[in-house]
Amino acid sequence: MPPDLSTARRILAVQPHYDDNDIAAGGTLAALHDAGAEIHYLTVTDDLVGVLDASLPDAEARARLRAEQEVAGAAIGVAGHYWLDYPDAGDWSQHELRREVVRHVRMLRPDFLFSVDPWLPTEAHGDHLKTGRAVTEAALLHRFPRLATDPEVDADWALGEPHELVGVALYFTAEPNTVWDVSATRERKRRAVGAYAAQFEPAALTGLQALLERAERRCAEGRGFSHGEPLRVLSPGDLHCAVPL
Ligand SMILES: [Zn+2]
Repeated sequence: MPPDLSTARRILAVQPHYDDNDIAAGGTLAALHDAGAEIHYLTVTDDLVGVLDASLPDAEARARLRAEQEVAGAAIGVAGHYWLDYPDAGDWSQHELRREVVRHVRMLRPDFLFSVDPWLPTEAHGDHLKTGRAVTEAALLHRFPRLATDPEVDADWALGEPHELVGVALYFTAEPNTVWDVSATRERKRRAVGAYAAQFEPAALTGLQALLERAERRCAEGRGFSHGEPLRVLSPGDLHCAVPL
């Protein structure tokens, strides 16, 4: 059985780009927020490549993306945003990201991580592959005290209450083992996704919303609710040498 997401009390959702969490799992994250979980977003890249207005200076584009993300986050119920600003589609290091994810896990002490599934068979985007790999590896390795991040964070974490990461929920997955009921929160997800106007023409955004709604309906078929989001929820123990028995 996959770890039970309904027990989540604090979630760190690590996304390659500004909108991935909301597009793939916004309904689930909003539902878990309503059930009492504190939600934090860590955004890996600056996402500038996807901004449609090529004449917009980088600083203005970055400010616009963050403003849109704040609006989206308010709809979902995000308590805190963290940004790493690695170059979008750039030559950044998966190893360095793993260190940053471990640092944030030690700072925030989430019981669940959310991120992209790095084992989606046809995924070609390096930002997604590296993010999914770094997050799952961090889930596995964060508890080893000799794996150093920031000395102050590491010392606080070592002196604090024992912390247990219960699971990792992977979205954009080809192998879901969990479908979360988002019937009550999908309207908030629609508002969140609708905030991302810097990267989508109005018609493209309308098309994306229709595509998401169809996928949510299909995913929920036969489950007793109208809309669902697919997730692959794994425990840290599933992430290393987990040969099928
Ligand atoms: Zn993305």
